[in-house]
Amino acid sequence: MARAVRITEHGGPEVMHLETVDLPDPGPGEVRLRQTAIGLNFIDCYHRSGLYPMPLPTGLGLEAAAVVEALGPGVTDVAVGDRVAYCLSPIGAYADYRNYPADMLVKVPDGVSDEQAASLMLQGLTAWYLLHRTYAVKRGETILFHAAAGGVGLIACQWARHLGVRLIGTAGSPEKAALAKEYGAAEVILYREENVAQRVREMTGGKGVPVVYDSVGKDTWEASLDSLAVRGLMVGFGNASGAVPPFAPGILASKGSLYLTRPTLFHYIADKAERDEAAAALFALVETGVIKTNVRQRFALSDVVEAHRALEGRQTVGSTVLLP
Ligand code: NDP
Repeated sequence: MARAVRITEHGGPEVMHLETVDLPDPGPGEVRLRQTAIGLNFIDCYHRSGLYPMPLPTGLGLEAAAVVEALGPGVTDVAVGDRVAYCLSPIGAYADYRNYPADMLVKVPDGVSDEQAASLMLQGLTAWYLLHRTYAVKRGETILFHAAAGGVGLIACQWARHLGVRLIGTAGSPEKAALAKEYGAAEVILYREENVAQRVREMTGGKGVPVVYDSVGKDTWEASLDSLAVRGLMVGFGNASGAVPPFAPGILASKGSLYLTRPTLFHYIADKAERDEAAAALFALVETGVIKTNVRQRFALSDVVEAHRALEGRQTVGSTVLLP
């Protein structure tokens, strides 16, 4: 038996319930995991609310650190007792024990704690692909990164500083702005009070930035396009304020022959070799102290409703973990 958070309908945080569920022996290629820390991510809210619809009933959660407890038939690349982490489907990380495909696991180095791994994998690998693959930032460049004090945001601030990139962040309060600066943002715009595009123009000698990383969506879409330099790239990678409504492609021409991409982590780390390379890059920066742990909120798994309320209510900073 295991304890797992399940939903039978989409809706607000209250639709989540912690239930006792059957846990069969791990099948071929699977391992049974005893989970030690679970990463809370904004995408979990989209799965719960139905913005990203799921077949119901379903579990929730994509990320955890764990210890391997038992091996299914044919598993050779991990052993019982290994410390591991993951951040991909199959969904169902909100649980104390679960079965999971062995070939999707990453081994956690000794210098990285379970809590760090659970809080860093999904958000850290996202920062990696955004800054290295979607648009490979170059030393000396200025970029705009929204929600800079959030989970992905604080990692991106540190990574950009490490790469010699001037990151202009946005944040919802002066406290969050101060934190983003502490973690490496060169400047922070208070986007609930200030005109983002105007401030970005002022900070870039009127030119605008070559790339905007926008996970806020509906509320920032227009300002993001208006912050880009001619032939700049708009990277829309999330919808924290709601999905961007349909628009006419001609707007990209009138605002400067802009490019637009809507990337998702899965397409950058589905390949095992690429996933391992990305995880090694991330863990190396954690072990050398370049990227500091940002776990600022911890909730018991049984308090998952409260945890979702805090995340959606913009009350969290940095990363959040659920503890089984
Ligand atoms: P965060 O910790 O960044 O939380 C979201 C933040 O968005 C809030 O703290 C808040 O910061 C900001 N925000 C702005 N407007 C709103 C609003 N109306 N309601 C709620 N929050 C708002 O979450 P994560 O680090 O987990 O994820 C960040 C974003 O990146 C999410 O949109 C997520 O979906 C996306 N993502 C996308 C991936 C991909 O591959 N496409 C992978 C991983 C994450 P503030 O108060 O400062 O405005």
